[in-house]
Amino acid sequence: MSPNKERNTTNPMSATQTKYPRLFSPLQVGKVTIKNRSIMGSMHTGLEELDDGHIRMAEFFAERARGGIGLIITGGISPNEEGGLGAKLSNADEVARHKVITDAVHAADPDVRICMQVLHTGPLAPHDKCVAPSPVRSPIARYVPNELDENGIEKQLSDFANCARCAKDAGYDGVEIIGSAGYLLSTFLVQKTNLRTDKWGGSYENRMRFPLEVVRRVRAAVGDDFIVIFRIAAMDMLQGGMSWDEIVQLAQELEKAGVSIISTHFTWHESAVPTIATMVPRAAFTSVTGRLKKLVSVPVITSNRINMPDVAEAVLARGDADLVSMARPMLADSQLMKKAAEGREDEINTCIACNQACLDHTFGGNQEVSCLVNPRACHETQLVYKPTTAPKRIAVVGAGPAGLAYCTIAAERGHTVDLFDQSDEIGGQFNLAKRIPGKEEFHETLRYFKRQLEVTGVRVSLGQPVDADFLRSGGYDEIVIATGIRPRVPDIEGIDHPSVIGYIDAIKGAKPVGDRVAIIGAGGIGFDVAELITHAGKSSALDIDTFAKEWGIDFANHPRGGVTGIEPVVEASPREVWLLQRKSSGVGRGLGKTTGWTHRLTLNRKGVRMIPSVSYQRIDDYGLHCLIDGEPKTLEVDTIILCAGQDPLRDLHDELVNESAHVSLVGGAFEASELDAKRAINQAAYLAAQV
Ligand code: FAD
Ligand code: NAP
Ligand code: SF4
Repeated sequence: MSPNKERNTTNPMSATQTKYPRLFSPLQVGKVTIKNRSIMGSMHTGLEELDDGHIRMAEFFAERARGGIGLIITGGISPNEEGGLGAKLSNADEVARHKVITDAVHAADPDVRICMQVLHTGPLAPHDKCVAPSPVRSPIARYVPNELDENGIEKQLSDFANCARCAKDAGYDGVEIIGSAGYLLSTFLVQKTNLRTDKWGGSYENRMRFPLEVVRRVRAAVGDDFIVIFRIAAMDMLQGGMSWDEIVQLAQELEKAGVSIISTHFTWHESAVPTIATMVPRAAFTSVTGRLKKLVSVPVITSNRINMPDVAEAVLARGDADLVSMARPMLADSQLMKKAAEGREDEINTCIACNQACLDHTFGGNQEVSCLVNPRACHETQLVYKPTTAPKRIAVVGAGPAGLAYCTIAAERGHTVDLFDQSDEIGGQFNLAKRIPGKEEFHETLRYFKRQLEVTGVRVSLGQPVDADFLRSGGYDEIVIATGIRPRVPDIEGIDHPSVIGYIDAIKGAKPVGDRVAIIGAGGIGFDVAELITHAGKSSALDIDTFAKEWGIDFANHPRGGVTGIEPVVEASPREVWLLQRKSSGVGRGLGKTTGWTHRLTLNRKGVRMIPSVSYQRIDDYGLHCLIDGEPKTLEVDTIILCAGQDPLRDLHDELVNESAHVSLVGGAFEASELDAKRAINQAAYLAAQV
C-alpha cells in the first residue's frame, strides 16, 4: 500500500455510522452473530475442482474476510456423484480439504462467517447418471435425467444430510441449500419438470415434499446452532413457473422445517430474461424480496446487481431485505466493505456486470474464473503485487485500460510512474464503451482508475501526444507502450465515399448517421454501434420499469414465473440497420457466452437485419454493393459505419526498440486481434507485478 493510501484513510466508525448504518449493523441468527449485513454470494469459480484448489480458495476467501465481508458463501459443492459437480463433500478426506478453507477464513477474522453451498444440479448434471423427479430434459441440458425411484429419493435425502454434517465437521458456520435455477430441488417444485403421481408429485404439497424433507434432514443432522440457508426462486422467469402464492407457501413451510435464512434468487438458467448482466438496472429485483420479507419471520437475503455500498444501504433502508448479497462485486474488489467503512468508496473497483472473466469462464469451458477489472480474483496466490526493492522510473504512454492498470499497479509497488495520453481524458476506448446504452457501469471503472492514479501518486500528463524523442530525453528505466489500436479500414472499392464513417466518429456523434445504415463488421463493436444507433428513449439499465417492459417482467402482479408471456415492448428503432459480416457462422456467435444472446435478441426486436456470408464489392452513391450468399445485392443506405476490427498502434515501440531503456508493449498495442479489456488489463497486471 502506498503512503498516500494511508493518508486518505478516515475514521472508520464515523463514516460507517453516518453513511451506512444499516449495512454495518450486526444480525443475530440463532446463536450466531453475523457482523454486518453484507454477504459474498456463492459463485462457482472452478477452484473447487483443482488439486490445489483448497489452498487457493483458502487465500481467495481469507482476503475477502480481511476485506470486511460479514458472511461468505462458497461455490457449490455436491452431496454425491449424482450432484454433478467435480467437487463433492461426503467423506473424511474431503472434510480435511475444506478445513483448510474454514481455518484460513476464521484466522483472517474470527467474526466472519462462512457457509458452504450444497448444490445438487439434478437434471443439469453433465453425465448420463443425472437424476430428477421426472425424465424431463432441460433445454440447456445434455441428457434426459433418470427418474428417481423411492430408493433413489431416500439416497439423495441422506446424502444431503451427510454433506451438511461433513460441512459442520469441516468448520463451516452453516450451509446454503440451493433450491432454484433448474437444479434438483427446484425441479420438484415446478409442475412442468415434476410429472410424478406419487407422494413426491402432483399437488403442490407433494411437490414441496422433497425440498422440505431435505431441510428437515439437514437440520436434524447439524443441530440448532448451525446456519441453514435455503435459496428459493422468488421469480424463476419461466412461462408456467412458480406462482407468487406457491413461493410464499414454500417460504413459510421452509421456516417451519428449520431454515435460519431464506435467500431469494431470480431465474432458472434456461430462462430468456437477463437478471445480472450489465444492462440490468442496479437492485432491480429487490422489491420482490421485500414483499416476501413481510410474510416470513426468518431473515431474508436479496441479490442481483447490488454493486456499491450506497445501493446496498438503500435496499436495506427500503426494508427490502435483512442481508444483501454481493457475489461478483467481491471478485472485483475484495476490500469493498473495508473501503466503505473507511469512507473510501471512490477507491472501490466496481463490478461492471460484464460477466467476461467470471460467468463466461464458468459456463464457457475450461477457463479459470477471474475478473475483468481485477485479474487477482481467484489468483491471489499467483498474482501478487509485492513492494519493489529496486524502484525504477517508468514512462507509460496511453491511458486506456492497459496503461491505467499497468501504471497504478507499478506505482503501488513503489515505482515512480509518469503517464501520458494525447487525449484530454483517461480511459482510451472505454470512453466509447461508456456511451453505449446498457454500458453505463463502464463509468465506474474510469472513476476507479482516476482515483487510483491519485492514490498511488502517478504523474499524469493529458492532452499530450508523445513521440520517441520526448521519451528518449526523459531518461526512463522502462518505457511501456500502451497506445492501443488503430481501427482497420477494409480494402473495398469506394471506401473513401462520403457516406463511409468510422465507429469512433459514429459513437462520438462527430459525423451524422443517416436513417438507413449498413454496419461493416459484426464483432463486439459492431453490435455496440448497432445498439447505439437503434436506441430510443431511456436506457433500460437505468430504469427498472423500462427494463421490465423490455423483458416482459411483471414485478407488480407477479404472474407465474414473474413473466407476462406477452411480447416484450421495445422502443422502435429510429433507423433501418443492416449488421454485416463475411463469415458464414451465426452473427454474434463470438459475443460473450452468457450475454451474447441478450444482444442478439435486443437487436432482433429492434428489427436490425443481421446478415452473414457477405462479400463487399463496392460503395457509391447508390449504397453498398455486395454479394450475400453469392447473390448480388445493393443495400441502399445513406451511411456505412466501419467496425471491421483493429490493428495494433505500435509505431513508438518500433522507433524505440533499440534504445537503452527497456521498452515493452501492452494491451492493443501488443496484439489487437481478439483484444478486449479483460486481456488488456490482465496482461498489464502481470507485467506490472514483475517490473
Ligand atoms: P486503448 O483503450 O485504445 O487506449 C490507448 C490509449 O493510448 C488512448 O487513450 C490513446 O489516446 C493513447 N495514445 C495512443 N497513441 C498515443 C501517443 N502517441 N501519445 C499519447 N497517447 C497515445 N472491451 C471489453 O472487454 N468489454 C467491452 O464490453 C468492451 N466494449 C467496447 C465497446 C466499444 C464501443 C469499444 C470501442 C471498445 C470496447 N471494448 C470492450 C474494447 C476495449 O475498450 C479495448 O479492448 C481496450 O480499451 C484496449 O485497451 P488499451 O489500453 O490497449 O487501448
Ligand atoms: P472483432 O470482434 O474482431 O470484430 C471485427 C469484425 O469485423 C468482425 O465481424 C469481422 O468479421 C469483421 N472484419 C474483420 N476484418 C475485416 C475486413 N478486412 N473487412 C471487412 N470486415 C472485416 O473486433 P471489434 O468489433 O472491433 O471489437 C474489438 C474488441 O473489443 C473485440 O475483441 C471485442 O472483444 C471487444 N469488445 C467487446 C465487447 C463486449 O461486449 N464484450 C463489446 C465491444 C468490443 P468478418 O471477418 O466475418 O467480416
Ligand atoms: Fe464483475 Fe465483470 Fe469482474 Fe465478473 S468479470 S466480477 S462481471 S467486473
